[in-house]
Amino acid sequence: VAMPIQINGSIGFYAAFSENRHQHIWSIDDIKFINDAVRILQNIIVKRIQRNSIASSFASLEAILDNVGSSIYVRDTKTGALLFANRSLRNNFSKELSDGSLELLFESSIPSRSKSGNYEVYHDLRDRWYELFYTRISWVDGRPVSLCAVYDITEKKMYQKRIEQQAYTDFLTGLYNRMCCERDLERYVSEARKYDSKGVICYLDLDDFKKINDTLGHQYGDILLQDISRAISNVDGIANSCYRMGGDEFVIIVPTESFDEYDRILEDVKHIFAKPWYLKDSDYYCTMSMGSVVFPDDGDNVSDLIKKADIAMYEAKRSGKNRIAKYSDNIDASSIRRLDMEKSMRDAALENCKEFVVYFQPIIDVLSGDNAMKGAEALVRWNSSKLGFISPGEFIPLAEYLGLINPIGNYVLEKACECISKWNKAGYKNICINVNLSVVQLMQKDFVDMLSELIRKYSIRPESLVLEITESMAINNMERTRAVLMKIKGLGIKFALDDFGTGYSSLSSIRSLPFDVIKVDQSFVKDLASDNYSKAFIKMIAELGETIGADVCVEGIESAGQLSAIEGMKVRYIQGYYFDKPLSEKDFEDKYIYKNSNKLVKNI
Ligand code: C2E
Ligand code: CA
Ligand code: CA
Repeated sequence: VAMPIQINGSIGFYAAFSENRHQHIWSIDDIKFINDAVRILQNIIVKRIQRNSIASSFASLEAILDNVGSSIYVRDTKTGALLFANRSLRNNFSKELSDGSLELLFESSIPSRSKSGNYEVYHDLRDRWYELFYTRISWVDGRPVSLCAVYDITEKKMYQKRIEQQAYTDFLTGLYNRMCCERDLERYVSEARKYDSKGVICYLDLDDFKKINDTLGHQYGDILLQDISRAISNVDGIANSCYRMGGDEFVIIVPTESFDEYDRILEDVKHIFAKPWYLKDSDYYCTMSMGSVVFPDDGDNVSDLIKKADIAMYEAKRSGKNRIAKYSDNIDASSIRRLDMEKSMRDAALENCKEFVVYFQPIIDVLSGDNAMKGAEALVRWNSSKLGFISPGEFIPLAEYLGLINPIGNYVLEKACECISKWNKAGYKNICINVNLSVVQLMQKDFVDMLSELIRKYSIRPESLVLEITESMAINNMERTRAVLMKIKGLGIKFALDDFGTGYSSLSSIRSLPFDVIKVDQSFVKDLASDNYSKAFIKMIAELGETIGADVCVEGIESAGQLSAIEGMKVRYIQGYYFDKPLSEKDFEDKYIYKNSNKLVKNI
């Protein structure tokens, strides 16, 4: 008897039954037996086939898992027993496998409720980093297990660290940079707060570094910065907390563990600058001004602390440079305003000086009979969008200190030339505009070329431009100043000696420098009516001017009384509130150029 055995719906086998005895008659019981046997065979065969296929799938899965790059293991979540480990894991972590430390190493930082996630693990014995992918799944028999895949990411970590280090290093000096300083300070300050200890931030700025740069060239300036960086980071206690903030500015953090040695560290730093630096075959001295602030006493927010250290540093500069100033709350609010100004001014000066406006104060010829306007002094103002209207007395010294006077000064010069040209066309052929110069401008390399270019561009007469300089500017380097002035003089431009009678005044500068106008300082005008010395001084200068062929201009005349006090003294020019305050370009034009007084009244 042959019976088909069905597997998955089709006939897979036949089961054959044979009877040896002759002439056997198959009974019902025989048929039942055959049917039962076929069913049993069928069951056995189906089970065997299923088991074979599962086993082979397992085998292939295992082969795959053995050949992936990561190390993989499966653990019984309840008992902790290891159920599976691929080859990579067996090879790389044999020690951990044998001493049972695998779980502790990889899973100790995983929150117990976590179902899945990525974790970075540092193996300190091996000094390697691993990334762990963790998931909970059901095992083949249904029990909950943890599946962990481990990747070695040490190379990636090192690369990241290298990139980070590059981002935190100042490439010229090898010190850390500003970004790093801010990051570290955050940590130092929070540590100090946590452990109730103290640290110090020192802001250090080299004195007159620009001079070294200008006289020796940038490459020696760079060498000096490198030498200084090396020297300060060699001071005990601050080796890892010296930063270059940019330019010639450094920050030194005295960390909490060195706080007890704070005074010794400052002395060591001071000592570095007491010695000369050997550059280009000779010795150069370079001093520094430093401001220090204690954290968390003087503040516990990083930007606030840096700001205060900077304020103290500025205080050190202001009180004569080459010194260290400690921050105290008494350092007045003006320093804070100075910092706000510093920030805004950089933006303003670099944005084409849009926020700077030039005002014009008329200069009156009182010997002409009808008090005619002979010209004007261009006076710059800063209309800051952030800080409001700022007078030049306040921002010019800072602009000089920050090296921003050149763009601002050049802007004023250009404005003056533009107005001369415009007002020439309106009929004022002989109008003269005075422009104040700062010594930094005068020392610009291409200053003379720039002036002659301006004269050409606006087609103005060179003698309609009068440059005002003070004696203090000349005194630093008389020879060099004289040489530049003579070149400018050669273009036909005129010079006025500003603020005469104050500070450095010496008659020798009048003799050796080519001045066309002497401007007597306003301080002589104040008590003109009662003070005989002032009167005599102005009279003497007026006579001297006549002798040497220079015009005299008295500044700061506010009243008719002051004006009449100098009557008969041969003073030709007067500038002062008595005639007018500095006026906006439009007001000046309305009143003096187009003489449309109605308009002016309306504008007021
Ligand atoms: P300065 O050159 O001595 O300019 C004269 C200053 O005296 C101006 O102040 C002017 O407004 C003021 N003044 C004029 N007449 C009188 C008066 O009758 N009474 C009183 N009390 N003051 C009078 P301002 O405009 O504030 O300028 C201050 C200083 O800022 C100027 O002094 C000058 O040294 C500097 N400055 C102004 N503009 C520039 C510029 O474009 N470049 C440079 N480098 N410095 C500038
Ligand atoms: Ca002036
Ligand atoms: Ca003046």
